Amino acid sequence: MRKQIAAANWKMNLGLEEANNLLDSLVQANIELSGDRETVLAVPFPYLLLAKEKLKGSNNFYVGAQNCYTKENGAFTGEISASMLKSCNVDYVIIGHSERREYFNESNFILFQKIDICLKNNLKPIFCCGESLTVREAEAQNQYVETQLKESLLHLDANEVRNFVIAYEPIWAIGTGKTATADQAQEMHAFIRKVLSEKYGDDVAQSISILYGGSVKAANAKEIFGKPDVDGGLVGGASLNASEFIQIMQSLK
Ligand code: PEP
Repeated sequence: MRKQIAAANWKMNLGLEEANNLLDSLVQANIELSGDRETVLAVPFPYLLLAKEKLKGSNNFYVGAQNCYTKENGAFTGEISASMLKSCNVDYVIIGHSERREYFNESNFILFQKIDICLKNNLKPIFCCGESLTVREAEAQNQYVETQLKESLLHLDANEVRNFVIAYEPIWAIGTGKTATADQAQEMHAFIRKVLSEKYGDDVAQSISILYGGSVKAANAKEIFGKPDVDGGLVGGASLNASEFIQIMQSLK
């Protein structure tokens, strides 16, 4: 079975004390996730080491960053490299979140470079893709997402792509309270798997976890995660509340 993942994206939220309390609440809840289920907490950079420390010894909890730079090191004031993240034992990195694409002009080519540097440093990318409302209304979402995949990750070989997680996040559903229906999510996830299968074969395509993101909450997680090609979620707002996120973790199939 593919890995089923509940990934929290805290974005640029929480002060140190609040971050500390949220981590404590998650750890103290002592949720046992069996087998192939895991949780990733993508926290702001200043809290990565704290999260690593707090989650030490907790089963199936991994720590992620929300971004990294395209270069290995050097005179790039304010940036964080993949090798720095690796040296802090970070496990995952979110690459290509729609907020980074929109506010920081991250193109498919920049993301191609970020993916490569993550893999070179043994970090697992959570690659985000997804269409805007305009694209969805024009019924061009499949073509749009396929281009995102082709231009940023389909240059990888089959072994590299196995280290990957993909998150389908329709932009119109992020932070809007407007969730894609479970059927809309399934339809796109099946399409993404077909694109992967055409390039890498069915075995590889079936091994890659594809998460859904966009207003996932405790109330809708079970239905969405229950779909055959949905392998969990990337969760923004609802991941800032311990009991809500714990229920989402418990909704993994
Ligand atoms: C996200 O930031 O990746 C996200 C899906 O946010 P939200 O759950 O708040 O829609």
